[in-house]
Amino acid sequence: MSTAVARETLGFQAEVKQLLDLMIHSLYSNKEIFLRELISNGADAADKLRFEALANSALYESDPELKIRISVDKAARTITVSDNGIGMSREEVIANIGTIAKSGTREFLQSLTGDRAKDLRLIGQFGVGFYSSFIVADRVTLVTRRAGLAPTEAVRWECDMAKGGGEYTVEPAEKAARGTDVILHLREGEDELLDPFRVKEIVRKYSDHIALPVLVEGETVNQASALWARPKNEITEAQYVEFYKHVAHDFEPPLAWTHNRVEGRQEYVQLLYIPSRAPFDLYWDRRKRHGVKLYVRRVFILDDAEQLLPAYLRFVKGVVDAADLPLNVSREILQQSRDVEAIRAGCTKRVLGLLEDLAEKQPEKYAQFWREFGRALKEGVIEDPANRETLAKLLRFSSTHTDSEEETVALDDYVGRMKEGQEAIYYVTAEPFAAAKGSPHLEVFRRRAIEVLLLHDRIDEWLVGHLTEFQGKPLVSVARGDLDLSKIKAEGAAEPTWKVGEHAELLRALRRALGERVKDVRVSARLTESPACLVADEHDIGLNFARLLKAAGQKVPAAKPILEVNPAHPLVARLKPEDAHFDDWAALLFEQALVAEGGQLEDPAAFVRRTNRLMLQIGAN
Ligand code: ADP
Ligand code: MG
Repeated sequence: MSTAVARETLGFQAEVKQLLDLMIHSLYSNKEIFLRELISNGADAADKLRFEALANSALYESDPELKIRISVDKAARTITVSDNGIGMSREEVIANIGTIAKSGTREFLQSLTGDRAKDLRLIGQFGVGFYSSFIVADRVTLVTRRAGLAPTEAVRWECDMAKGGGEYTVEPAEKAARGTDVILHLREGEDELLDPFRVKEIVRKYSDHIALPVLVEGETVNQASALWARPKNEITEAQYVEFYKHVAHDFEPPLAWTHNRVEGRQEYVQLLYIPSRAPFDLYWDRRKRHGVKLYVRRVFILDDAEQLLPAYLRFVKGVVDAADLPLNVSREILQQSRDVEAIRAGCTKRVLGLLEDLAEKQPEKYAQFWREFGRALKEGVIEDPANRETLAKLLRFSSTHTDSEEETVALDDYVGRMKEGQEAIYYVTAEPFAAAKGSPHLEVFRRRAIEVLLLHDRIDEWLVGHLTEFQGKPLVSVARGDLDLSKIKAEGAAEPTWKVGEHAELLRALRRALGERVKDVRVSARLTESPACLVADEHDIGLNFARLLKAAGQKVPAAKPILEVNPAHPLVARLKPEDAHFDDWAALLFEQALVAEGGQLEDPAAFVRRTNRLMLQIGAN
């Protein structure tokens, strides 16, 4: 490799600059967190070195004691955080420090509101990391040498805010010890950070859970043992929270956690956290985000160990430390290991147990969890048949028995409120919430005060495809098949006011007029206020689901809807097969029903022409 690469000045991505400005302003009241972030990075670097050294112990050079050192220089007004971890090559510096590798940075920035409190939360969720140095420093210098490279192959990176902060320099450097020094040139007025006592205080507050020694001016100030390996009763809540922020790269405290030592066939420790907020890209890429780190006997093995939890629990963060796995375990081995399968089943059970506990004992916290991660649990119902029953109990839905979209009910609540003689759990699917709530299919249920779940999330169609019953009660769509509510003892009339055969002539005429567009036309037991609605035949695919699949580019089995009409409605009552405009009326009835349930007209222009013809006709009368 050529050592003569000269000093280079590079521009940050536009997003980085924007993020920097925003962070400095929004996090100032929390400025000491920069130290937590730098220590956290040093600890990660030590973990990575230990892992790479498993295969190549020469990487330790003559310096096997991993630690983080912090020193201050009053004269130069600098504070330096050094680690002897893995270090970075020139390419890695540019990729990791000059870019934000996270997906969706631009979308993230667009979601910022300008409201300080809200943006603070957002930026915390995004992860502040290394850049938090600029809260207290106006110039940051990073000198790093990757383990295994020669002392002359080190790199110096520097960013000076006085030069606008939009660019940084990278140049070759020399560094005897491997690892990274981060040198903060403090801003005016930040002199308290030059006091070692103050620095020690901050380190103790934020980094006591860090597993390697953190030395301030030569003195070790933390416990330096892996937090998860300590007995539960020796860990404070604050330590659990700080450890979470470190492993999860999160700025906010977690919602809940579970910490257990599991013995038996597989021995392992699990410390698993549920974040307070979903990352903004949680549902964009199911494969990407996994937050559990795997350790084997305290040695870090890998990040994002997707084998330790099923994909739907990818929002869970934390650590699994296994006693019995080999140290050279790889992702490929993990995929096939039955031992890992047992750990995965154990972790899944713990997380679901934690959620059950929250749901039962802290319903408000659970409601927050549901708002953030509910959709992931719905994925779980589809993906994890072994835990389907547990997951079903954790689901929450909007319902005709609640007032707003936010208020939700559990299936247990629903079953507890079922009417005498009611055998099924009824639901309607439509998007968005207003369409579900206003669906004509609900009319008779409303009148008879029979509860219906309002499923207005896209994933719900798949959900009910997999969750066909709950506690022996089938889940039944109110928009499919023949509806027979006659056995249910509830308010309102159970018997229809019309008799079979009574409207035979009208139905025949409608069938003829609508032809291929419908499978059948019949009198409705569902409607009390609307003139007509569309339903799917008992074994046909639901109309909303068919639309979703079509939109997703999938082949949909051709299934025509059934038009149901409400003979008590004045519009239906005035339909006369001998009327010259009967075919227009029939088409309009069909099109109205289609629109009412969120469908799209096949030929909107024809619809407009037809409506106009009828309006003119009314005007002429
Ligand atoms: P995060 O830690 O969440 O990835 P940071 O902004 O803290 O985000 O760090 C960005 C990246 O820079 C890290 O992922 C790592 O690759 C690299 N990095 C930062 N500090 C160090 C360090 N002390 N040693 C080695 N690599 C580092
Ligand atoms: Mg970090």
